[in-house]
Amino acid sequence: MIVIEDRQSLDSWVEQSRMWGGKVGFIPTMGALHEGHLALVREAKKTCTQTIVSIFVNPTQFGPEEDFSQYPRTFEKDRALLEEIACDAVFLPSPEVIYPPGGQTYVAVEPLASQLCGASRPGHFQGVATVVTILLNLVRPHAAYFGVKDYQQLTLIKQMVRDLAMAVEVVGVPIVREEDGLALSSRNRYLTAKERQQATALYKALLAAQSLFKNGELKAIKLEKAARKILYESGIEQIDYVEVRHRKTLACQLSVEDPVMLIAAKVGKTRLIDNMVLST
Ligand code: AMP
Repeated sequence: MIVIEDRQSLDSWVEQSRMWGGKVGFIPTMGALHEGHLALVREAKKTCTQTIVSIFVNPTQFGPEEDFSQYPRTFEKDRALLEEIACDAVFLPSPEVIYPPGGQTYVAVEPLASQLCGASRPGHFQGVATVVTILLNLVRPHAAYFGVKDYQQLTLIKQMVRDLAMAVEVVGVPIVREEDGLALSSRNRYLTAKERQQATALYKALLAAQSLFKNGELKAIKLEKAARKILYESGIEQIDYVEVRHRKTLACQLSVEDPVMLIAAKVGKTRLIDNMVLST
C-alpha cells in the first residue's frame, strides 16, 4: 500500500489509476480506524480497481469546545489495518495540502446543515461539506463511500453532489455495530465501563421505536417519546435530539411516512449518534 502525502504524488497516482478504464473508489476518514471504516473499504473493493482512504482530522469541522486536539491519531495501527485488507493507497495530507494559505471559499448546504447535529454544532457541516469537496477534487474518484452511521452527513453529501453536479457516485454503507448493538465509533474509546454499558440504550431506543412503527404507530411524537424513555431509564440525561424525519429529505413529519429515527446524546462527556430506518 502506498502512502501519499503531497499533491504531486496524489496526482500521479490518480492519473495512473484512472488509466485504461480503472475505477477509483475513495473513502474519506479521520483515522482511528475500526471495522466500520473497513466495511467502507471492503464495499469499495467490490467494484473498484483501486481504493484510496484519506486520513485527515479536519480542523474546520470541530467547534472551539470540541475534541480536535484530543481526537485519536493512530496512524501506524491504521496503516496495518488497511494493509491487511489490501487497500491500495492512503492519502495522509497535512492541513496545508488541504487548505493552502489564502483560501476564501466554503460550501454551505442549507438548511440541511443547520438542523439536527448542525443545530448544536454550528459550522460543523460547513466544515464537512468543504473538506469533502476539496478531497473529491483532489482524488477525483469515480465513487466515494460514506457510512450510514453519519446519516445527516451522508444525506448532505448526496445533496451537495447533486446540487453542484459533481461527477462522483456517492455510496452509503450500512452501520457496523458491536454485538450488543452499539454503533462502532472512534469516540467509543472515550467511554468508561459504566458509560459503555449505558451507550447500548441508543440502539435499544431505536429498536423500540422501530417495533412501535411496525405495529402501526405513525405519530412522530409518540415514537420519539418511546425512544426518549429508554434513554432516560438507562441514565442518559443529556439528549441532544431524538427525531423522526423523512428518510430521504430529513424533512420533519407529524405523521410519519418512510421514516428514519435519528438520535444524538451525550453519555458522560462523549457525544454519540445513531439512527435507524424504521421500515427496515
Ligand atoms: P470518521 O472517521 O468518523 O469521519 O468516519 C469516516 C467514515 O466512516 C464516515 O463515512 C462514517 O460514516 C463511516 N463510519 C464510521 N463509523 C461507522 C460504522 N460504525 N459503520 C459504518 N460506517 C461508519
